[in-house]
Amino acid sequence: MQASEIRDLRGALEFLDGVPGQLQRTRHPVDPNHELAGVYRHIGAGVPVLPPTRTGPAMLFESVKGYGIPVLVGLLASRERAAMLLGTTPQRLPFKLLDALKHPCAPVFVEGSAPCQEVVHRAPLDVRSLLPAPTNTPLDAGPFFNLGLVRAQDPETGEADVTIHRLCVQGPETLSIYFAPGRHIDAFRRKAEAAGKALPVSISMGLDPAVYIAACFEPPTTPQGCDELTVAGGLRGGAVQLARCVSVDASAIANAEVVIEGEILPGERIREDVQTNTGYCMPEFPGYLGSAQPALPVIRVTAVTHRRNPILQTLAGPGEEHVNLAGIPTEASILQMIEHAMPGLLQNVYCPPAGGGKYLAVLQVRKAGPRDEGRQRQAAIAAFAAFPELKHVILTDEDVDIFNPHEILWAMTTRYQGDVSTVFIPGVRCHPLDPSQSPEFSPSIQAPGISCKTIFDCTVPYALKEKFGRAKFAEVDPGPWMKS
Ligand code: MN
Repeated sequence: MQASEIRDLRGALEFLDGVPGQLQRTRHPVDPNHELAGVYRHIGAGVPVLPPTRTGPAMLFESVKGYGIPVLVGLLASRERAAMLLGTTPQRLPFKLLDALKHPCAPVFVEGSAPCQEVVHRAPLDVRSLLPAPTNTPLDAGPFFNLGLVRAQDPETGEADVTIHRLCVQGPETLSIYFAPGRHIDAFRRKAEAAGKALPVSISMGLDPAVYIAACFEPPTTPQGCDELTVAGGLRGGAVQLARCVSVDASAIANAEVVIEGEILPGERIREDVQTNTGYCMPEFPGYLGSAQPALPVIRVTAVTHRRNPILQTLAGPGEEHVNLAGIPTEASILQMIEHAMPGLLQNVYCPPAGGGKYLAVLQVRKAGPRDEGRQRQAAIAAFAAFPELKHVILTDEDVDIFNPHEILWAMTTRYQGDVSTVFIPGVRCHPLDPSQSPEFSPSIQAPGISCKTIFDCTVPYALKEKFGRAKFAEVDPGPWMKS
């Protein structure tokens, strides 16, 4: 099985079964309520989960207490595994996505019956007993689907969008859905609501990882009206197949393991922690428990469809799975934009786990001549301008391995002087989930969610470059010595 043949979750799992150490199956019974996420923390959740944690295998819990459906977590919780599943290397991942952006391929409707509709449950139903959505911590607002790929269409233009949104199970046929500001499906929902209408949606779960990664592209790379499934088609070199929903006017991923169909009701809102009153929703990607939202849109579930013997795929967040989903498309977007504006300067980009994939980017640049001095900072400003959620940019030279955190800290130690190498840009709106962005933390912050964006320029000034050559060793072929 080659990575290029993967078209659905089952193909991805079959592929990983052939790679030692990447997929752990367990039959030991697990409770989806708190226990499953607690276990995966030790197996493979990764930074920024509270230690002890580590980068590890994906995990398929085959025996989930109270359910006949297994739960998969952590499929993308390792950059190395994400690269394998897309047929590339960790260093080349953003370039692989760039290539997909250049070769978009629109989704098509499947001919004949769709695998995701082998079994159909129509309302009345109870999502809570049908699907084992995990509750990640004792303070969570309830069970969450964290890898629900929501698909909907603009009620005016018919343009489609896919995005992963957190979905809390609030009742037998009720989910709440959280939209961060500016999300495209929320714009569709507002239009439908203004017309007094419900917005039909599908929620596909258990997918080809290429679909999940492509869905995480954001503007300006995929502006409203751009169906991110065209990028997924580009990644796989073939169209993603869609199925017409059985109960609403919407389309879902035809080979998904599970699809929830429903509609976002106009004028209805629910408090996210209405079941628990804890004030929290669930552990969010920066590593802290997120606050429950006071009034979220409500999805009324109209049907649940699935394959025979389905697998429920989810994300026991935070951790590296979120980092890769958010970070790799951001890396590709930064590469694309800066290459456009300043060809040849930017060599690679990495959004490390410390930033949850959104807050921190390391830009590797090559200053080719004296006129390139200062352009590295221009590149950092351009990245801030395009990605409002980016808070820190670290700049390094081309001889630094940006995928090794020790290398980044080495550059910050030997090629950085705090007073001249740091650029502060205070008073800029950032992302609401970083708890340090509050007036109590800093006198320069006027309101929550505003931040001091910072450039850490760890590049050698071009005029001094000769003095900063790394010690060179004899070039050898180490092959014969590596076979012990
Ligand atoms: Mn979009």
